Amino acid sequence: MMIFENRNILYRLCIPVFLILTLFSCKTEHNEKKDELISKAESVIQDTTEDKEVKIEENKRFSSEDIPEKYMEIVADTLGVILDIRYATENNFTKKQIYDCPRCFFRKEVGEKILAIHLDLKERYGFGIKLFDCYRPSPYQYRLWEVMPDPNYVTPPKKGSIHSRGMAIDLTIVDKNGKELDMGTPFDYFGKEAHSDYVELPDQVLKNRQLLKKIMEIHGFKGIRTEWWHYSYRGLKGNVDKWIWSCE
Ligand SMILES: [Zn+2]
Repeated sequence: MMIFENRNILYRLCIPVFLILTLFSCKTEHNEKKDELISKAESVIQDTTEDKEVKIEENKRFSSEDIPEKYMEIVADTLGVILDIRYATENNFTKKQIYDCPRCFFRKEVGEKILAIHLDLKERYGFGIKLFDCYRPSPYQYRLWEVMPDPNYVTPPKKGSIHSRGMAIDLTIVDKNGKELDMGTPFDYFGKEAHSDYVELPDQVLKNRQLLKKIMEIHGFKGIRTEWWHYSYRGLKGNVDKWIWSCE
């Protein structure tokens, strides 16, 4: 009987001890996981920041010496930015090659905002940006005008495009695989379907355009009514520039 009671006491003692040990080990495991997640998140944050600084620095180095100090270049794959400079190919609405080679420059303040937009999209949605046109040297604007002397399609060179001030951009959003989001029309489609106030479009297209508009506006850009892809930066003033990048 005594032995039985002792066993009983032993069992009674064992159960709480077992429970405490289990809870303790679960809690330790839980804390370890939590710590691991926190450190992973911190390393991602650090990586992104370092990546951004290094690449912007690299970017500045990529500019050749005769590039004006106030400009910076965005080279292909900077932070994953895709370049598809259409006027350096025949794949544009004029069907002629306007630029001698594809390069992408902006006024520094603008270029840095554009990289920030790309990172913002990447962090929020895993998306990125694809650039169709950046700084457009005034001599190229004349070339474009020669091919298409119609103010409905091309800003008259004498008036001067904001692209020629290094403060305008033509772009779209791409998903994590680099595939363009459906914006309803291709870039440089000149019809009412490309207008930002045209709403007879599938919901997803309207949402995609809205996302582009929202992210651009957050970073200080403003769109125009007739081209969903065109945005210009409002925080700067500047004259038309005529320097042309080298193709060597
Ligand atoms: Zn444009």
